[in-house]
Amino acid sequence: MQAIVITAPGGPEVLEYTAVDEPAAGAGQAVVEIAAAGLNYIDTYHRIAQYPMDFPMTPGLEGSGTIVEIADDVTEFAIGDRVAWTGVLGSYADFVAADVSKLVTVPDGIELETAAAIPLQGLTAHYLVRDTYALTPESKCLIHAGAGGVGLLVIQMAKLIGAEVYTTVSSDEKAELAKSAGADHVIRYDEVNFADAVEEIGGPRPLDVVYDGVGKTTFDDGLRLLRPRGLMALFGAASGPVPPVNLQVLAQNGSLYATRPTLFSYIAKREELVERSRELFEWIGDGRLQVRIGQTWPLEEAADAHRALEARVTTGKTLLIP
Ligand code: NDP
Repeated sequence: MQAIVITAPGGPEVLEYTAVDEPAAGAGQAVVEIAAAGLNYIDTYHRIAQYPMDFPMTPGLEGSGTIVEIADDVTEFAIGDRVAWTGVLGSYADFVAADVSKLVTVPDGIELETAAAIPLQGLTAHYLVRDTYALTPESKCLIHAGAGGVGLLVIQMAKLIGAEVYTTVSSDEKAELAKSAGADHVIRYDEVNFADAVEEIGGPRPLDVVYDGVGKTTFDDGLRLLRPRGLMALFGAASGPVPPVNLQVLAQNGSLYATRPTLFSYIAKREELVERSRELFEWIGDGRLQVRIGQTWPLEEAADAHRALEARVTTGKTLLIP
């Protein structure tokens, strides 16, 4: 089979399309023929080894496909089942051996490509708005990079709940997308200071929560938009990691809370993974949630997909098709 292999960390050019051995199902595993692999920002952190990684390795955590082989000890899935997953390293490939604890069943009527867009960014948007800061119809929130994969989903889910949504984007096309996803206030943070713009609309410190996946360039200004005891949810670092923070800034800004959540703590229990996925698939199935697949690349062109993501030219979800 073919897979993307990285032998040493580096730029997008280290993503090599290579022939490798097909995997076999170990205990508790299924082998899945991959229909689509999801590209996520974390794949770029893995590529440059921003997190400790063993090389050589095949990147990619997310995808969808059909089970073609299954270990004898697995009873809850069968050959032929359509499944999706996150947290299975090695998903940039024709086949992957996945622990079945990571798999969720894709309901009939949902395309595998749509399903591949959901496990990582969809579950992230879900835990952010449902649990990290549980939005209500009275809430006011800000989500940065509103036309991105997580961003478009957070906007829609926040509007499903009835919250007021501010968002930031860096182009006119992205502004249109964020607006059509339902955002109430769309701010071009490449042109104006977003904190000044938010306060012009909502008055001083109008926000209950800032969902910040951009990090370095947005974190400090986000703090000055939160009401007393509001929450800064720093969930990513697309512009680079936030430097160490003196906790005193939380006092100075009004007894704020800050958290650095990761998806894996919110789906560690199988029931939680299944329940969040069920609600997401229900919203997609009845049309309340639109999954925008902004672009697809053949798997062998994974390097170009990484270049586009890092150059801020992608919108919504990016898929790699084996
Ligand atoms: P996106 O599709 O949102 O792409 C990243 C976006 O960030 C860009 O499109 C761009 O939007 C914005 N951005 C701002 N500054 C920069 C910069 N200097 N370089 C590149 N992009 C920049 O990616 P994802 O939806 O995959 O992920 C969004 C964030 O969420 C990432 O930080 C990711 O790590 C994080 N994440 C965290 C998870 C968690 O559980 N903690 C899980 C999943 C994702 P614009 O051009 O509009 O500024």
